[in-house]
Parts: sequence; structure tokens; C-alpha cells
Amino acid sequence: MEKNKKNFLVYSIYALTIIFIFGFLLWLGHFSAFQDFINKIENSSYDLRQNIILNHKKPSGNIVILALDDESYEYVMDNYGSWPVSRKIWARITNALEEVNTQYIVFDLLFIKPNLSDIESDLAFVQSINNKDNIFLSMNFDNYSEEVRTPRVFDKRFKLQVKKGSISDNNYVTFSNSRPVMEELEQVSKNIGVVNVSRDEDGTIRNVTPIFKYRREYYPNLSLGLALRILDCDNISIKKNNIIIDKKHKIPLDKTNRAIINWYGKRGTYSHIPLWKVLKAIDNNDSMFLKNNFEGRIVYIGTTATSLADIKTTPVEPHLSGVELHCNFLNNILDNNFIKKPPLKIDFLISIILSFIIGYFVLRTDSVLKTFIILFITLISYAIVSIYSLLFFKLWLAVVFPYITMISTFILVYCEKYLLKVKDYEQTYKLAVTDGLTGLYNHRYFQEQMIVNVNNYLRYKTPFSLILIDIDFFKKFNDKYGHQSGDYVLQKTAQILKKNSRALDVVCRYGGEEMAIILTNTNKKDAISAANKICEAVRNEQYNLLDEKVNVTISVGVAAVKEDGLSAQDLIEYCDKCLYKAKEQGRNRVEFEL
Ligand code: GH3
Ligand code: MG
Ligand code: MG
Repeated sequence: MEKNKKNFLVYSIYALTIIFIFGFLLWLGHFSAFQDFINKIENSSYDLRQNIILNHKKPSGNIVILALDDESYEYVMDNYGSWPVSRKIWARITNALEEVNTQYIVFDLLFIKPNLSDIESDLAFVQSINNKDNIFLSMNFDNYSEEVRTPRVFDKRFKLQVKKGSISDNNYVTFSNSRPVMEELEQVSKNIGVVNVSRDEDGTIRNVTPIFKYRREYYPNLSLGLALRILDCDNISIKKNNIIIDKKHKIPLDKTNRAIINWYGKRGTYSHIPLWKVLKAIDNNDSMFLKNNFEGRIVYIGTTATSLADIKTTPVEPHLSGVELHCNFLNNILDNNFIKKPPLKIDFLISIILSFIIGYFVLRTDSVLKTFIILFITLISYAIVSIYSLLFFKLWLAVVFPYITMISTFILVYCEKYLLKVKDYEQTYKLAVTDGLTGLYNHRYFQEQMIVNVNNYLRYKTPFSLILIDIDFFKKFNDKYGHQSGDYVLQKTAQILKKNSRALDVVCRYGGEEMAIILTNTNKKDAISAANKICEAVRNEQYNLLDEKVNVTISVGVAAVKEDGLSAQDLIEYCDKCLYKAKEQGRNRVEFEL
């Protein structure tokens, strides 16, 4: 029963500790600075996990990037004398790519305004695009004032048909104005997608917006538009935070209505063919080069040159080009492998379970080393689980919150356990030195204290005295009134001894009905008067037994250190002899000299 009660107390404190930790963290969660702090570390841990699993993913081989890299910039400047690349050149490239049956040509470049000084060039480009089904152009949405720029109304062929469902508005999704492609191009193009990107607070890109809302209509991200074409799908539905494309393809959206990208690799994961090589091949009529690199493939055309600013920080690379971001996004749609974040309550549940496990082991394990090993193993195991969840289940499990709760639980439950242990130890020690019947110190403690006092005397000359007490005719008393009455009288006598000695005196049960008092800092004279006082007090105590008033008497021996002995043993022997003398002299008295 006692043990059950104690266990109940321990586990209640343990549960309260964990509830306190979670309550405290929830309270901290009200402060946006704390949320930012947690998010920052959580994002970094996600970036790390993405890097760890990077080598386990293979990108689709069908995507190739025609790159405006730094070398191409030099090449174009040297050979064509102007930058940006003139639209005449884009027309030649488009035509050449069409000639070798490129599957899709996707421009991650903005062709915004007509070039009034080179109308011919613009016309050539318009001609090359003219109603070709496999060419995709880009535009950007923004929220510029209508007074600055009149918003364009787009033809319905550019809109995204949403069969069912809707998504809520937010800064990443909803826009009121646009930076569209030039009107002449728009008229002849079949496909235009949106290329807005959005960064997290730390400037890193982890998410993309698949669907944009522009003036109450939906428009697809450039790569979503392309994916829909590849998957032969002309509309989507939105259900429970998922964009449903078909049975096998859906895009999970996070709280911001964005999709979390699953990264395929660092710079150069998709093969890059620099623009200058393509231009050279066209100039040299090297159609083999074009065929080998582009036939039947999806070609994204975009800038990778560091000087051209379309460079983003991502979890896998501090300088990843925008066009590579698009390749990743397209690949995620086609492979249906976006990252999902479980709802907050799941993270919460995981944290609670792990904290309870840690706390339980801390309470149950005696070895400090073992406890630390268990904490360490749990932390490492959870890290591994979170990495494998990302790889196999594409789940972004929170790690920071569970780690904080686990470590706090470890520390607090450890403190709890330590405090309880100290209390336990105190209790055990008390039990070990106390006599069960009288509550006085026991014989062992008496012997210890005798040695301590003798040593103190030898070192500091602190005097002390010893009193030995034996109840008179106690055998007879027991015989007459019964053992239980005897016990009661023993207890009572012990109380009288305690009451008549000072706090620092050590009152012990020497054995049987014999008791002893070590009087610290007391000379023999004072000890004798104390002994007399006690003797009288015991004598005066009356008991009602068998309808008569009874009292007991004691015989007392007194000895002082140095005068009567220098070792603990000598002193006890001398005192015992005095006690014997008191018995001999008729009992109920104090003796201190032989
Ligand atoms: P005296 O000391 O005056 O010579 O006589 P006595 O009868 O007290 O003699 P002695 O000290 O030899 O006897 C001790 C008795 O005390 C024996 C035992 O019956 C009794 N006694 C010892 N321990 C306990 C105890 O814990 N409870 C009870 N009730 N009696 C005890
Ligand atoms: Mg005795
Ligand atoms: Mg006795």
C-alpha cells in the first residue's frame, strides 16, 4: 500500500512535469518571435534532411535545360553585339528545335514589350511561335497599381479549368495585376504559365505556388500547365488541400496553398546545354547535335548565368537557377512525390509520446550512463525516422518541437527523480539509525557518536559526558503487567529522556531497557545534575495499570571524558560500572564514582 501510494505520487509528478512542459511551450507559441525561432531551426533541419536523401532520387531523364549561362552571355556579346539575345535569334532557335522534333519548348524567360527598334525581329519570333501547341511562354503576376499599368484580361485558353473546389486567397496565390508577354506574342501563343516564385522568411525557396488567382480566375504555374499537357488533362479539382490532376497525380498544398518541393539534386542535375553551343550548331548546320540533345525531350529555356539574377537559394544549393527550380517542380508533379507536412496535432502527439517514453526511462533506469544512452538513442532514432519518412513517405515530420520537449522532459524528470532520491536516502538513513520502538537513536548510532565525540575531544578539547540508564526490576514489571505495558513504559521513558535533554544531546536506546545519553559540551558536574533531573522525572511519571497507579524507577551511571576514560570503550565501561554500583546501592539513583 505504502509503495503503491509512493508510485502514484512519483508518476503523478512525472505526468504533471510533462503537462507543464507542453503548457509552457504552448504559451511561448503565442509569441511570434518564438514561432520564428522554432521555424528557423525546423527549416534548417528540413534542408539538412533534403541533402541527406538527395542521392536516393533520380530525376526524369527527359528534361533538358537550354541555358543562358555566363559563357553564352560572352558569346552572344562577341558574335551578335547585343544583349539580351535578340528575338530573331530566339526565332532561329525555336525553329531549329521544332525541326528536330523537340517535345516541348518551355521559355522560362519573359518577353514583355515589343522592341520598337527591331520590329522585324519581334515578327520573326511571333512567326516561330505561331500557334504551336508544344511551346510554353511565361508571365509574371504582381499587385501593381492599376494607375501604373492597366491589368490585362486574358483569353480563356490561358485559364486553368478548376472543376471542383477552390483555394483561399493569400499573398502567394492572389494577384491583381500582371507583367504579361507582349500582346503580339500572346495572340499567337497556345500556352502561357506563371513563373512567380516565393521565398520563406530566411530567403530560401522551399515551396512553389502551383495555382494563381488573378482577378477571380485561376491560372497555372508554368510547369503545372506543362504537366497537365503531358498528363493529357485539361482540368483539375481541389479537394482537402490537394490539387487533384488524375488518379495518380496530385499536389498536396501546405497552409499557404503552396506545394513543398522535393529536391532532385544540386546544380546540373538536369543536363545543361549552353546557348552558345546551340547557336554554333545552328550556324554550322549541325543538326546531329540538335537531334542528339533535344529530340523528343522537354526543353526548358532559361538563365543560369549568375550575373542575370534569376538565382535562388534552396535547401540543396545556395545558387540554383529559377529554371532548375521549374524542372524540379515539373518532375515532382510527374513523379507525384511532393513533400507533405502532417497536421500540427500529429507533431504534437509524436512529441507527447516521445516525451513520456523518455520520462519513463529516466524514472525507471538507475544508472546515469544508461539514462543518457537512452536519451541519445531516442534522439538519434527519431532523427533517422524523420529522414526515412522524408525519403519513403515524403513526410516532413517536425523534429525541433519533439526534441525540445524530449530534452526538457529529460532534464525536469531527472531533477524530479534526483529530489525524490535524496528524500528517499534521508528516510533510509533515518530508519537505519533509529530504534523502532522508542524512536531514539539505536545502538549503532550511539557507538558512532561516541567515537565522533572522543575524536572531537582529542582534536578540539570539547568535553562531553555519558549517562547510562537501566530500568529497575523491569523483568518483574513485564511479568506483572505484561510485555505490552512494558513496551509502553519504555516508550514513555524514552520521551521523558528526550524532553529532559538538550537538542544537541544524543539520546539512544542502548539495548533492551537500557538507554544512553551523550551530552555534548557538558562537564561531569552538569551531567550529574542532568542525570538527577531525569531520574526524578522518570520516578514521578505515573501509569494506570491493572486499576492501580504504578511508577518505574531507573538506575543511572554518569561518566565524563578524560576523567573517567579516554577511549569510547573505557568511558562506556566506567559508566556501566557506575550504573552497576547504583543497582547495588539500592537502585533509583545516580552514581558517578567507583
Ligand atoms: P534490574 O535491572 O533492576 O536488575 O532488574 P531487571 O529485571 O530490569 O533486570 P534485567 O535488566 O536483567 O532485565 C531486563 C528485562 O527487561 C528483560 C526483559 O524482560 C525486559 N525487556 C528488555 N527489552 C524489552 C522490551 O523491548 N520490551 C519489554 N516489554 N521488555 C523488555
Ligand atoms: Mg538491563
Ligand atoms: Mg533493568
